[in-house]
Amino acid sequence: MPRPTVGIFGLTSCAGCQLNILNCEDELLALTGALDIRDFLMASSGNDTGCALDIALVEGSIVSKLDEIAVRKIRERAKTLIAIGTCAVHGGIARASGANPLKSAVKVDLNIPGCPIEKDEFLSAISMLLHGDTPLLAEYPACTECRMQENNCLMSENGRFCCGPVTVAGCHARCPSLGVPCVGCRGPTREVNAESLATLLECKGFSPSETDRRLQTFAPVGENA
Ligand code: SF4
Ligand code: SF4
Repeated sequence: MPRPTVGIFGLTSCAGCQLNILNCEDELLALTGALDIRDFLMASSGNDTGCALDIALVEGSIVSKLDEIAVRKIRERAKTLIAIGTCAVHGGIARASGANPLKSAVKVDLNIPGCPIEKDEFLSAISMLLHGDTPLLAEYPACTECRMQENNCLMSENGRFCCGPVTVAGCHARCPSLGVPCVGCRGPTREVNAESLATLLECKGFSPSETDRRLQTFAPVGENA
């Protein structure tokens, strides 16, 4: 079977998600063996910038007409377009400056959130695609993974503001596991009870307006990916 042709692109972003693909170190050879990567400016200056692609991985958000034109061109080339990272999936922190997610301009076939994406989640999604399966990504909240790590809850036990209850899992509760509250960098879960969280946080001394502000940092809470 021919290897699928792949392009990896960045719109307006910090390029961290593309870098995390290159950081796959132990798996990078297997990845480049399984995929025919044709267009990846961060990794190569010799790219085929016009070929048809089986898979396009696109990082970043749309902040300008140039971004919009770029993502439309990528969409025309690709059978499957995957948004990688919270900027591409939800708009990310640049939303405050008017940035939009990819889905505002083109059809997106799969969303892999994260700021940046998690290596294991990315590799597992690619592996499932290679096997002809639809990638399964976590839809439950970060609290589930946090409890699986047997962490003490920073919110209920220490009264700290944590976005875990409304943030989609997949990072293995990286921040709370280090004693740092989750700031919601992966974006919201599909079903969010923001009202209940606001009530809970109000009991801990956080005003509804502060809760609202913090929950909107990376992505609009309540928005489906
Ligand atoms: S520390 Fe945060 S992520 Fe962990 S269980 Fe508590 S609220 Fe959830
Ligand atoms: S714990 Fe929260 S802020 Fe930290 S990496 Fe995970 S989703 Fe992002």
